[in-house]
Amino acid sequence: MPLPYLLLDHISVTYDTAGHVHTAVRDLSLSLARGEIGCLLGPSGCGKTTVLRAVCGFEPLGGGRIVLDGREVANAQLSEPPERRHVGVVFQDYALFPHLNVAQNIGFGLARMARAERRERIEMLAQRVGLAGALRKYPHELSGGQQQRVALARALAPAPALLLLDEPFSNLDLDLRERLAVEVRDIIRASGATAILVTHDQHEAFAMADRIGVMHAGAIAQWSPARELWRTPANRVVADFIGRGALIPGTFRGNADGGGISLELGEISVSAALADKLLRNADKGAYPLSVEVLLRADDISHDPASPFEATLVRRAFRGADQLYTLRLASGREVVARVDGDLAHEAGERVGLRLTVRHPVAFAASPVSI
Ligand code: ADP
Ligand code: MG
Repeated sequence: MPLPYLLLDHISVTYDTAGHVHTAVRDLSLSLARGEIGCLLGPSGCGKTTVLRAVCGFEPLGGGRIVLDGREVANAQLSEPPERRHVGVVFQDYALFPHLNVAQNIGFGLARMARAERRERIEMLAQRVGLAGALRKYPHELSGGQQQRVALARALAPAPALLLLDEPFSNLDLDLRERLAVEVRDIIRASGATAILVTHDQHEAFAMADRIGVMHAGAIAQWSPARELWRTPANRVVADFIGRGALIPGTFRGNADGGGISLELGEISVSAALADKLLRNADKGAYPLSVEVLLRADDISHDPASPFEATLVRRAFRGADQLYTLRLASGREVVARVDGDLAHEAGERVGLRLTVRHPVAFAASPVSI
């Protein structure tokens, strides 16, 4: 296997504020191949920005090491200065120079390049980010999305070894975000750069990244491609953050070759792989097994003929479909994605059927995460 282009090997970063030591990143590892786009996904305060600052060289490591393109740039004893790491950064607020026009902003990091070559590179990058006609404009004359693209072109201009993007879309309208995420991904791909994106928005992460690390309290809970995160979240923290489903108790019956789980909304069948995982994580001798099943909006359908019913709490109309929040007999709430034509009122009983295609379940145990 080739060496990864970027390796974070068990890094930790601590902040010391007036004698109070806070470990913001603990024992975090990840690796990216050249040209890959990775993402750190997690709630505010979980340590995402701190990881980027450590990779840039703005924060020293308390432990572990960072290897970039075969070179160890940081460990607990050593920290190569930021300017020697050739890392480009796009900040949340873009940090464009207000008194410089688009061409000057993009060319900012190219001071040492010959004039003609510099102009050519600026034009090429402006073209790539769709701003070829706006080179003489100033930041205040641009929309948020355009400013974002200038920031991206400026970061890419010196052909950085690595591109870091810290919540680059958070100042933009929701509908613009997802479109721009796909555009930005294509621009990064075309540049050949290796990149790390940081976000708290799962849709952005899914739209952009080859690999996603779900972060929780300074550590990565799972580092996987999007589909794997969705289908086989490694633990409750990931299951809870990805897809925002409800964990509903159930009972597993079967053996390592497969079986079924009964829930208050019906029965789901379980593959050998999942059955094996449940049995391995269960207390010895416990049978049938108490488990928790992740039910997301797509796992539950409306079915007026079903014997299983729940009470509609509220509905959110989205156009072609709508989200029903429903209360089960146990008092637990689940969300179901149903047809936009349905018109139940809050308080009404609604027939439901489980339509779980990729079951996610954990052995019930109050101590494991
Ligand atoms: P995120 O980017 O995921 O929101 P941060 O990396 O900014 O998280 O912060 C992680 C933790 O470290 C938080 O608890 C935050 O309060 C703390 N922290 C961040 N920067 C500093 C700093 N310069 N000094 C002290 N604590 C900090
Ligand atoms: Mg941050």
